[in-house]
Amino acid sequence: MYALKKGNQKRTVDDFKNPDGLPKLFGGRDAFSMAVYRDEDRQLNYNKLVQIFYTAATTADPQGMHLLFNDIAREGRLLRLFTQNVDGLELRCTHLYTQTPLRASKPWPNVVQLHGSLHWMECISCHYLCQIDISLFSGTHPPACPLCQVRITEAVERGSRSTTPGILRPRILLYDDTQEWDTESIAAVVKHDLKSKPDVLLVAGTALKVPGAVEIVRKCMEAVRKSGGRTIWISKERPNAKVKDGWDHEIRGSCEKFALAMAG
Ligand SMILES: [Zn+2]
Repeated sequence: MYALKKGNQKRTVDDFKNPDGLPKLFGGRDAFSMAVYRDEDRQLNYNKLVQIFYTAATTADPQGMHLLFNDIAREGRLLRLFTQNVDGLELRCTHLYTQTPLRASKPWPNVVQLHGSLHWMECISCHYLCQIDISLFSGTHPPACPLCQVRITEAVERGSRSTTPGILRPRILLYDDTQEWDTESIAAVVKHDLKSKPDVLLVAGTALKVPGAVEIVRKCMEAVRKSGGRTIWISKERPNAKVKDGWDHEIRGSCEKFALAMAG
């Protein structure tokens, strides 16, 4: 995850797409690819994984990095926190907030979720959106969209042929995803922020393995350097090869320990 800020800060959380994390136990990269919709076994597997992540997201408390970012936001120094996490833990902090779906133009929230949120579900057909009912994601098939079903029923009553309703998906981005949730809005936020002369780029708790995230960081790095600011990398892993150079501070280690040190 990474953030642009006017001052300094950062944050951390497990990467939803970390190939060495929980997904590995459920089949590796395929566990978070569109392959999960190809057959019943994979769908059942995916639903179990979503349930585990959702339980973790709703029972865990914000950690040190969340609190550190919250402090920076409270001080009015946070331009934006871009997160790859879908658990929404940072949103339990008093000064961090987001919006679902992300609007296309200003004003934007100070947290942008690049890979969506586990707390929402959306129909891939009519884009009906609501807070997730996790109990629906438990079987071998994705749940059918209730709004689609109402429209189909009405159409049948008018004499039309019955059709298949859209499916509801947890509103999280998968590898090779075909959905474009918030993509244009995120691009608009990034474009705006790059023009805002950010003076600190802090990337924390990620290996930056997702191409879109790498590109955002690369552009942000250029903008911060242009404004004479500082770039900081904090992670147990080395930066992605495409952004491996140009860090003013490269700290290899735990983000949480860093957050604790900052708090102390
Ligand atoms: Zn629908």
